[in-house]
Formats: sequence, structure tokens, C-alpha cells
Amino acid sequence: MKRRKFIQQLGYAVPVAFALPTLISSCKKNNNDDDDGITTVKKFKDYTVIIVGAGAAGLYAGWYLQERGFNVRILEASDRVGGRVRHLSGFADFDIELGAEEIHGNNSEWYRIVTEQVKANLNEVPKEDFYFFKQDFTDQDEPALKSESFSNQFQEFTKTIQFVENAPLYSGPDLTVESVFSTSGISWNMFGVANGLLGNEFGTSNNRLSIKGLAEEDARWSSGDESYELKDKTLLTVLETKFAAILPKVELNTQVKKIDYSGDKITLTDQQNKSYQADRVIITVPLTVLKDGDINFNPGLPSTKVDAYSNIGMGGGVKAIFKFSTAFWNEITSEKLGSVIGYNEVPELWATNYGRGNDPILTTFIMGEKGEQFSSMSQQDAKGFILGHLDNIFGNNIASQSLLQDGFHLMDWGKAPFIRGAYSYPMVGGGLIFRKELAASVSDRLFFAGEATHYDGHSGTVHGAIETGIRAVDELESSIL
Ligand SMILES: Cc1cc2nc3c(=O)[nH]c(=O)nc-3n(C[C@H](O)[C@H](O)[C@H](O)COP(=O)(O)OP(=O)(O)OC[C@H]3O[C@@H](n4cnc5c(N)ncnc54)[C@H](O)[C@@H]3O)c2cc1C
Repeated sequence: MKRRKFIQQLGYAVPVAFALPTLISSCKKNNNDDDDGITTVKKFKDYTVIIVGAGAAGLYAGWYLQERGFNVRILEASDRVGGRVRHLSGFADFDIELGAEEIHGNNSEWYRIVTEQVKANLNEVPKEDFYFFKQDFTDQDEPALKSESFSNQFQEFTKTIQFVENAPLYSGPDLTVESVFSTSGISWNMFGVANGLLGNEFGTSNNRLSIKGLAEEDARWSSGDESYELKDKTLLTVLETKFAAILPKVELNTQVKKIDYSGDKITLTDQQNKSYQADRVIITVPLTVLKDGDINFNPGLPSTKVDAYSNIGMGGGVKAIFKFSTAFWNEITSEKLGSVIGYNEVPELWATNYGRGNDPILTTFIMGEKGEQFSSMSQQDAKGFILGHLDNIFGNNIASQSLLQDGFHLMDWGKAPFIRGAYSYPMVGGGLIFRKELAASVSDRLFFAGEATHYDGHSGTVHGAIETGIRAVDELESSIL
């Protein structure tokens, strides 16, 4: 995702240094930082902690707990680690990220892991590479793709950009972005630009995203406004390298169905009725998994927790990847094609191979309502429709003509069995207060992590997920000390 790039590029959402408080400082603790460090380590060894889910949050929490001396097990429903960090190998001459792609900002533990610990090479994502799909904001006919500087000549376009720039400063009633846009007096032709830059970036669409929630989350963003991509590694390789010591503790194909915390020990039961005992549990599953009641809790979760997950959104989203015989977009755009925004049906797409490989690849990033529409089709139909839209964007049926056989891959996150959606977003009637409730521990024995529990503005990101892992471990440790 290219989330926040645009907003931050324009300098509106870069917050005054918001302290990343205890998260990062606590992360620097080591086993000997207490007066009686050795005793503490011994004490922690007596505690078995089970982590549910081996995505970024679960892996970090597991690794960190093990470093602190705890006895750790990680139960993962799927047959792989990484969760929403996942790539496609063998499709092109480089690995393509199917989930998280960019590292947002350089002020995070995740950025430090990537650069200082795993020492991965990065490409900084340029800030000036936007192209906009012309939808009647000019009188001229061809070509339909316009660079940002060209687009800036047109009033409806600049008014839309102002709308996007001002969205993080919104302080009116709690409405969807679309409701506020519809009363802004801006031509409806600009809908696609506003949706591509706001709703889609937040993993949804403007008709679902709360503009107030967007502003609230953006004000807390503190990881910095640059974005990076890995040059010659994948995000999963980074996770696997950093967390190598905890990988043997991950038990795959183990879907937790029940968590009974009524007794002295917490008992977890998996899909095969096998049970596991723990003193503490950290739950890192995606929001949809909690919403859908995959896990039966005994006693039931408090009503505040149920309210919390009901008031945070998470919907479908797809990344459809296309491989072509030629980078035809180079003929159409005078400059390098970065992100293309503004087409209603395909809110954002970008050329994926820059700085990574030679095969001409376009990734389409279609979140929320539009993503769910493609998800409801057969793969073949989705391919045909999206390709047709690429033809509209680039003209002359060039996309259809250049597509290679087997040059299509659809990653439908709504259909990933244990994820079932893209990432969490603020809904109307919601707010960070609900993320805080979602994050709160239950009886000092169940702890909650995962991107949706980030209440300081970094939800929906990998670095945010990692920060929640750190927070949950800190809370767990405090429950013992
Ligand atoms: C298309 C897309 C693009 C994105 N782009 C970016 C980006 O560019 N930059 C960025 O920073 N972030 C991006 N994100 C968001 C980022 O991927 C997530 O915020 C982050 O990876 C979430 O990590 P997590 O640990 O919270 O959850 P997950 O990675 O979802 O991990 C949760 C794990 O729990 C497991 N699980 C579920 N149910 C059970 C159960 N009952 N028992 C046991 N295990 C269970 C799941 O299988 C999963 O492995 C993107 C996400 C998507 C989908």
C-alpha cells in the first residue's frame, strides 16, 4: 500500500514529534536491567505464554518474551508465518509483495530492524511520482494520464487536492469522507482522486471511512513521512531473519478455537480438539477473526471488548498483479510512472519493478467496496474486468495486448481464510477510544496485540503491529512483577 504517502508528502499530516512513549524505550530493556535481573529471568521461566497468531505482532511478541526469559509457544492457524506479510515468488524476476509492501517512516522499531539489524537495502519511494487519471478535469482528450504538475492547472483537481490536504485537519461532525466530499461543491468527477488518496489508502473506501477518525489517527502518526521499499529482499525474509530464534516455537496449522481462562491455568483448544495450557495468552489475530467469533472465550469477553471490535472497520481488499511483455507505460508518460490514482474502479496502481527487477509488472491496489466487488467474481472475470479498466487507463487496448500468458495473480485478502480482510480503518461512530478498549488486557491474563489494537495512529501497518507486540509484552510483564 502506498498509505499516507500523499497526505504526508503534502506536509499536513506530519505531526509534531509525538512521543512513541514506552514502546520503544521498553524495547531496549534487557534481562539485566532490574536490580535482581537474574531472579526475574528465573521467575519468567516459570511462565508459559501462548501467543495466538504468527504475523508481525505475534512474532515480535514471541521473540521479545523469549529474550526476557519466558517459556513461549506460538499457535498459528495457517501453514505459514507472516500473516499479512507475504510475497509471490517465481512470477517475475523479483519477489512481489502481496500484502504489506512499504516501510512507512524511519522512526520505528520496524525501520531499525530492517536497516540496522537485518541491514536490508532500501529504495526510498519518490514523492513526486504521481499520475492522475483524467476524468473530465481537462477539456483535452488524450492521453488520459496526467502528471501531477499538469493536473495542477485545473481548478477541480486542485480543489480536490486541497480537500485531501485538509481531511487530516477535519474537526466537524463524525461523517464519512464521502458525505463531506459530496457537500464540498467539488465535481463528482473528482471522486476517484479523493477515494484513491484517502479511502483506498486506509484500506477501505470513502463511503466507509470516517473523516474524523482519519484526522484523529493522522494527528498521532509519529513514524515519519518517508516511505521505503526493500530492494532485494522481501518483508517476510526480514521477519524470518530477525525472529529466527522464535520460529521453532511456532506451531503451524493450529487454529485456536477456544480460550478458557476460568481456571488457574488458561486452556486453549485447537480445531482438532487438542488442548494447550498457559499462564498468560497474547491474542494477535486480525480484527475480523474476533468480529466473526472464530474463538470462543470462557468467560465471554467483556462487553467493552465486544463494543470495541464492533466499532472498528475491516473490509475486503485485493492486490491484482499483472506481468506484461513490455513496459508500455513508458511510452505514455514522459516521466517515470509511480502511482496512478483517480480511476474509480482501480483506485490505485503502480509499477512494481522499479529498483527491484526488469520484468514489467503493474500492481493494482483495490480496497474496500471496489475490492469486494472483484472478490465476488471468479478469478477469470476479475482478471478480465481489471484488465479492461487498465485498457481504459492506458488507452488503445495496450494492457490486454501486452499481457503475458500466466501474467496474472490475484491476492484476495478477503478470502484469506484466517485474515478475511485488508486492514482496520476508522468507522463513523468509532474512534481511537475503541482501539484502546480492544488493546486492554482482560483479568491481567489475556493480552491483545495486532495492528487493529494500535491506538497511537499506526494501525494498518507493520510497524504499528510490531509496536502492539511490544506493548502487550510490557503489559504482560507488569502483570507479573
Ligand atoms: C494488501 C495490503 C497491503 C498492505 N500494505 C502495507 C504497507 O505497504 N506497509 C505497511 O506497513 N503495512 C501494510 N499493510 C498492513 C500490514 O500488512 C498489517 O498491518 C500487518 O502485517 C498486520 O500484522 P498483525 O500481526 O497485526 O496481523 P496478521 O499479519 O494478520 O497476523 C495475524 C495472524 O493470526 C493468524 N490467526 C488468525 N486466526 C487465528 C486463530 N484462530 N488461531 C491461530 N492463529 C490465527 C493468522 O493466520 C495470521 O497469521 C498492508 C496490508 C494489506 C492486506
